[in-house]
Amino acid sequence: MSELLLRDARIQGHEGPADLLIRDGRIAALLTPGAGGPDGFAGEVEDLNGRLVLPGLVDGHAHLDKTLWGGPWVPHSSGPGLMGKIRNGQERRPELGIPNADHIAALLENMIVCGTTHVRSHVDVDPLVGLDSVEAVREAVGRLDGRISAELVAFPQAGMLISPGTETLLEEALKAGVEMIGGLDPAGVDRDPVRHLDVIFGLAGRYGAGVDIHLHDGGTLGTWQFELIIERTRALGLGGKVTISHGFALGDADPATRDRLIEGLAGAGIALATIAPARGTLPLRALTEAGVPVALGNDGVRDLWSPFGTGDMLERAFFQARGTGARDEDIELALDAATRGAARALGLEGHGPAVGDRADLVVVDARNAAEAVCVRPRRSLVVKAGRIVARDGRLA
Ligand SMILES: [Zn+2]
Repeated sequence: MSELLLRDARIQGHEGPADLLIRDGRIAALLTPGAGGPDGFAGEVEDLNGRLVLPGLVDGHAHLDKTLWGGPWVPHSSGPGLMGKIRNGQERRPELGIPNADHIAALLENMIVCGTTHVRSHVDVDPLVGLDSVEAVREAVGRLDGRISAELVAFPQAGMLISPGTETLLEEALKAGVEMIGGLDPAGVDRDPVRHLDVIFGLAGRYGAGVDIHLHDGGTLGTWQFELIIERTRALGLGGKVTISHGFALGDADPATRDRLIEGLAGAGIALATIAPARGTLPLRALTEAGVPVALGNDGVRDLWSPFGTGDMLERAFFQARGTGARDEDIELALDAATRGAARALGLEGHGPAVGDRADLVVVDARNAAEAVCVRPRRSLVVKAGRIVARDGRLA
């Protein structure tokens, strides 16, 4: 039995200070401060001196395989638009040695010391890279030895129908145990949304996989695909297993269309993932009130798509908050999308911190959640499944 006592903790959503008892990876009790643990307690003790305990940060939309983190600085070289980025990424991958398990592990390490305890990563699958990216990400995750959990999405970044051979490789990835099947702009990139959805929902059904579709398409083309995905999810009874990533069209839709789509998403049990974009911000409050879970993610970090980002989900929550509003409850909503909301979107049960929840936690020197997002202080302690995995910016 492993035990850890976090003494004198300030816990988000809990009145007054408490001692947090963790046993075998779960939160066993919230105790009166100073009690010194239960009788016979012989576990590890950490004095938090009133610091704030938040649920572990969850990165609901990453592209670990693409990163150059820890390697040389590569100036941005992509052409314009989505197709410019896709082509540049494919063309320069061999020259830069992408995917690289060292870079991926370095980024994962930074994510962990910044308090991320779980990540969903899309991983490129196409005829040029095959399943190399899947293998590189798995190897890197393995090196971190349980300090972070990861689920992968087999992702047709170069398109599926327009990139012959990709469908077979996606299926191989699922056979090899990849948890989710990805899609990419069924209309805008693949030019045939019905067939695109036939293929990915077909694969999801055959392998019991979840679905996560990148939908950049805007305007009515985008909102129409929202409807197609809602219909499909309802018809197949896949509520709770489908995510739409980005969904810019929803952020830009007129109020009547927006409300209709949100109702459809809630009814079908579809989650959304967003990266706090500069434009097309999702209506986070309306989605939350309708019961649509929203996950926040860093997207690509220092890669051929963008030099920006560090992997820090508090930083991403800060970006989201700037589009959501300045009141404490707006900032808390943004942070929720990086913690509990993301966990709901990804189907992670018991993402606390409450008694019985998994002990995935991050400790910061802040008085409340809003201050934590605004200041983004150093993470003094990161706990994954009851084990201290990072302390003051370094792996433990
Ligand atoms: Zn993405």
